[in-house]
Amino acid sequence: MAQPPLNLPPDDRSGSGTPALLFFPAALAGKQFAGPLVVVVDTPIDFCRWLNDAPPEVQWLQVEGLLGEPEIWATAARKASAVALDVVLSQPGTEFSGLYRLADVRNVRDVRVTLPVAPGFSKALRLASALQLPVRLLPGQPNDALVEELLVAVDFYLHDPSVEAPVEFFHSFLASQRGVLGSDLWMILEQDPDEYRRHDQQGAPIYPEGALPSPTRSGFVTQFEQRLAETGAECSGCRWQSFCRGYFKWPNPDYACAGIIRVFDALAKAAGEMETDLAAWQPPPQEPTQPPAIP
Ligand code: SF4
Repeated sequence: MAQPPLNLPPDDRSGSGTPALLFFPAALAGKQFAGPLVVVVDTPIDFCRWLNDAPPEVQWLQVEGLLGEPEIWATAARKASAVALDVVLSQPGTEFSGLYRLADVRNVRDVRVTLPVAPGFSKALRLASALQLPVRLLPGQPNDALVEELLVAVDFYLHDPSVEAPVEFFHSFLASQRGVLGSDLWMILEQDPDEYRRHDQQGAPIYPEGALPSPTRSGFVTQFEQRLAETGAECSGCRWQSFCRGYFKWPNPDYACAGIIRVFDALAKAAGEMETDLAAWQPPPQEPTQPPAIP
C-alpha cells in the first residue's frame, strides 16, 4: 500500500504502463512537461513559484532544507492549490521541531514527511504522527543503534493512539502480511531507479553507482537480486525476500541483515496477532427491538 496523500502512489505505477516518474531540480523542471514530474525545490523563491504555478504534470514538490523558513509555510497554508508536498528532512533529530509549521499546511493540501533513518529520527516520526502527517522512512543500511531506534518506532507505530496516518515502510509491510497485494520495498519507498528517475542540477540521470539505466524499466532491482544470488548473499534464504528484494544490501552488499530482520519480524508478529484478534472477534449480540409502547 502506498502513501495515499501524494497524487501518484507507487502501487498505481507498477506494471500499469504508467510512464516513469521524473524528478528534476526546480531550475530544470520548467522544460520537462512530457509526463508526470516531481519538482525538487530548495529555495523559498522556487518553492513559492512552483506552489502557485504548477502545471498538472507536477505530481508533487519535493521540498528540501526549507523547514526553517516560516514565511513559506504560512504561504503554503493560505493557498489552496492542489499541489502536494513531500517535505524532506536531512537531519530529523535536530530539525523535528520545525514540523509544527506544517500543521496548518495539511489543512489545504496533501503533505508527507520523508525522514532518513538517522539518529533521533523517531522524534520527528512522533511529531509528524501527532500532526497526522504520513511519513516515509528511508532506512538505508541502519547500524545497531538505529535498528534499536527502528524497533522503538515500530512499537510506537503499532500501539500509540496518535498514529492515524501511514508510516512507510511499516504500513505496507503489515498490509502485505495480511494478504494485500502490493509492491516491493524499492517501489514503496520510491527508490526503484527505473520507475523514479532522479536528475542532478545539470539534468544528468542519477543512477546507482555501477548500474546502467535500463530501457526496459525492469532492470536495476532484478539485476541486483541476480547479482546477490550469484555471490551467495543471505537474501536467498531470507523469509522477507519477496517484499525486500535485497533493498538492505544496497549500496554495501556485505551489510549484515540480522538487525533489520528483527524489525520485519516485529511487524510480522504484530500482523499475526491482529489476525488472531480478528478471528476471535464476535459482533456483540443485538438487543431485541421492543415494539413501541401504545399510549
Ligand atoms: S532483509 Fe536483508 S537478507 Fe533479507 S532480503 Fe532484505 S536485504 Fe536480503
